[in-house]
Amino acid sequence: MLLMPQFLLKDIFELTDEFLSAHQIKGVIFDIDNTLVGFRDPKPTPEILALLEHLKEKDIKLAIASNNSKARVGLFAADLGLPAYHRSMKPLGHVLRRICRDFGLPAKNVILVGDQIYTDMLGGNLAGMQTALVDPIDLKETVFFRLKRRLEMPVIEKRRRKEQQK
Ligand SMILES: [Mg+2]
Repeated sequence: MLLMPQFLLKDIFELTDEFLSAHQIKGVIFDIDNTLVGFRDPKPTPEILALLEHLKEKDIKLAIASNNSKARVGLFAADLGLPAYHRSMKPLGHVLRRICRDFGLPAKNVILVGDQIYTDMLGGNLAGMQTALVDPIDLKETVFFRLKRRLEMPVIEKRRRKEQQK
């Protein structure tokens, strides 16, 4: 199913060394908005910089593919030292496939990490990559997200109780 993320992650910090090696992931393509930072945050946080630096040290290839403007992506990625594509036309695959070629990696060893089904997940899946959906950053604090979480809680609790009965 082309819309289905292969992995559901809370945030990008779940991209641990163990996770990447368990799934033979040698390259990561990040969306920016609501994946790395919120819509209104112009620059990466120190925590994100530290994670990217760590991944680089582990020889994981990194790139950024955003459908946002040159100005947004240029400012965000200015000091990162990573290939960064604006107006990347996700879910169309040409930019994603080009990044895999530049990585020198088959698409199956690359994961696309994003917050949207119809651009990020569809694009990554169409390109034959692995895909991970993260919780959108800006929505975390909204009433809607809290309400949704509250509706999910009884289900989560029920699941927990089942586990305990085993
Ligand atoms: Mg996004």
